[in-house]
Amino acid sequence: MTATAPPQVTVVGSVNRDIAIRLPRLPRPGETQSSCGVTARIGGKGANQAVAAARLGARTRWCGAVGEDGEEVLAALAAHGVDVSGAVRLPGTPTGTAWIFVDDAAENAIVLDAGANGLLAPDHVPALADGVVLLQHEVPDEVTALALATARAGDAVTVLNPAPFRPLAAATLESVDVLVVNGPELAGLAGSASVPATPDEARVLLAEVPGVEAVATLGAHGALIQRGRHVEHIPAPPVDAVETTGAGDTFCGALAAAMAGGAPLVEAAEYAVHAAALSVTGEGAQESMPDAAQVREFMT
Ligand code: ADP
Repeated sequence: MTATAPPQVTVVGSVNRDIAIRLPRLPRPGETQSSCGVTARIGGKGANQAVAAARLGARTRWCGAVGEDGEEVLAALAAHGVDVSGAVRLPGTPTGTAWIFVDDAAENAIVLDAGANGLLAPDHVPALADGVVLLQHEVPDEVTALALATARAGDAVTVLNPAPFRPLAAATLESVDVLVVNGPELAGLAGSASVPATPDEARVLLAEVPGVEAVATLGAHGALIQRGRHVEHIPAPPVDAVETTGAGDTFCGALAAAMAGGAPLVEAAEYAVHAAALSVTGEGAQESMPDAAQVREFMT
């Protein structure tokens, strides 16, 4: 990355240390168990989406907060090609951490400490005047609202992936150019108690959220793209899925990278469907994200 070129994709969001702990079975209250192994990875939706975009060749900047213990995390993001010059270091705070307990039956229990992610403040966010600005729901809502508004006041295109889902303020939604949701998030957005299992069910729910360009990801069913009254289905290519962790993050990063490269929404979504399908063929989230050459080859 050259010092002068502006970022094409700016992600304002979270980073976590993901500590996965394998156990024969999940511990009961008061019980002490020895683990069968511990794996430490970098996660968080913001960081994952930034890595996805950077691996696909977009000049990508991540803006977010780490704690005093965050240098290793930032170095890991930088090693993936992500510009971390917009990161803030918050003294007296730990970096966000997820402890993920996984038992022999693949049942899991997760403890999440938002740490520095929860203390990101609007004045930590730099100017967001151009490119694609990509946000999620793992930092405080006032940061998301301000980032969207400043990006919109400039020439930036805004993409919001409201995950984990919380209802969106009308003013926030008005600053969003493209909303990206998975099945449960679409159900939340449409106020439906049932998660869509098929593209037809998702189409019905998308009709409940008019007025915004929206992309609904549907796992092995691919994605639906709603533009005005027009809805298009992009099926996912069949793959041997190994691990789907981070599939949605790969999708969002790839969509932003393609849009930043000038692709119209449907074309960008088609690219993202293929990038995300490739990502589920390997283990881990960031570890299985493809590069641009792999996606191009997969699409031909
Ligand atoms: P999330 O990870 O947020 O739950 P989805 O499960 O909808 O998101 O997956 C996001 C994208 O990942 C899908 O649109 C698709 O492109 C890809 N994907 C996920 N699971 C599969 C699968 N089993 N086969 C092919 N592609 C998949």
